Amino acid sequence: MVIKATLNATHTREMIVMPQQHDWRWCRKCQGLFFGGRPGSRCPAGGAHERAGSSNYSLAFDLPATNGWQSDWRWCNKCQGLFFGGRPDPSCPAGGVHERAGSSNYSLRQASVIVDRMALPNSGDEWGSEDVYMLTFRGSVPADGGVNSETQFTVRGPGAYWNNFTNGDVRNRDIAIAAYEPDSLYIVSLIEEDGERDVTEEIESAYRTGLDVVWTAALARTVGQSINDRIEVLASAVIEALHGTSGILTNIPVLGDDDQLGRPQRLVLPTNSLQAVLDFKGEGARYRATFKVE
Ligand SMILES: [Zn+2]
Ligand SMILES: [Zn+2]
Repeated sequence: MVIKATLNATHTREMIVMPQQHDWRWCRKCQGLFFGGRPGSRCPAGGAHERAGSSNYSLAFDLPATNGWQSDWRWCNKCQGLFFGGRPDPSCPAGGVHERAGSSNYSLRQASVIVDRMALPNSGDEWGSEDVYMLTFRGSVPADGGVNSETQFTVRGPGAYWNNFTNGDVRNRDIAIAAYEPDSLYIVSLIEEDGERDVTEEIESAYRTGLDVVWTAALARTVGQSINDRIEVLASAVIEALHGTSGILTNIPVLGDDDQLGRPQRLVLPTNSLQAVLDFKGEGARYRATFKVE
């Protein structure tokens, strides 16, 4: 079966043609997912998996690398179960390890923070490139007040979707910028490119490492503080670090000619709507980005 990943008439995700396989089932005994189209399944709770009461689930397979999707999920030909193939020694209820021979490469949707639209209500008078790209930092705030955390840093754009903006342009392409985790803090910065993108892959990688250090240090400084006080400190530490002219990462030669449109900002996704709007205002331009979670 071939479908197009069309969400509605005006909002299209990456226009990928997505092959899908149905007959994946939930097992009421082990709560796992298994392929129901073959006999001889093996359940970790004993005997065969039991599909009674299950919906018919479809899995996408053989997708090109796509932001917001995780690939390398595999079917095991011994137990019929679905397992993640990216880690060593996955234990199989049929004995030994799961066996992926004959499996497609399945992908699962990840809940993502997405730029739903990017608009340029007022382009100003600057000539030349009107291409923008976004830096996004995500850090999980540990609920127990401790220091166990994870961070993520991405760069998206300009690509063919945030380039050549002119006055009044609105771009509706959905662009996934980070994983969505309700306990995470998000800081975003929009940058207007001048010629070549100053944040090369090498600089992106230096930023990823540097921001993780900044985050870890801020976590250590705030152990035991209330979660709101902590978030204040964490947010300003990352904003400072990401701010091209005053950040502690200024030893990284980022933003040579490119214009950072205002200071980096905290992105708050209200739990009742999971949507937000941010304005990025710089010399001669003001962009408006609308975010959502899907
Ligand atoms: Zn089972
Ligand atoms: Zn198995």
